[in-house]
Amino acid sequence: MLPTVGRSRRTVSGAALLFRNRGGDLAGCRRSLESASTFAGIELLKLGEIDKAWATARLHLDGPIGERARLARETNPFATARPHLGNKQLDRCLGRDGDKLGREVCTRIARHLELCGQCREACEARRLA
Ligand SMILES: [Zn+2]
Repeated sequence: MLPTVGRSRRTVSGAALLFRNRGGDLAGCRRSLESASTFAGIELLKLGEIDKAWATARLHLDGPIGERARLARETNPFATARPHLGNKQLDRCLGRDGDKLGREVCTRIARHLELCGQCREACEARRLA
């Protein structure tokens, strides 16, 4: 994805927060980002879903921060029903908001849409909207 100030800031601040939440344990940060019951934060990051990536990484923290994140996810009936790709990213992919995705992210999104029926359905819905 082509970096913008906002995306770069969200990426760096999310990484810094995770690093702080992990008490400076870099290997632990990597584990949090790569851990997943279904879809890891690192994969979301590769798709340009920055905020979802860090939220997913928080699910894999020990202590109160991780517990809060897991509770919020467990009590939200829509949390697991949401596609990996949000509307903003789908619209970027469909070229509607003028924001250009980089070739690498575009390729990853296209590959993801081939493999993930939930995101493919969401994309089709956005295309028809
Ligand atoms: Zn998906």
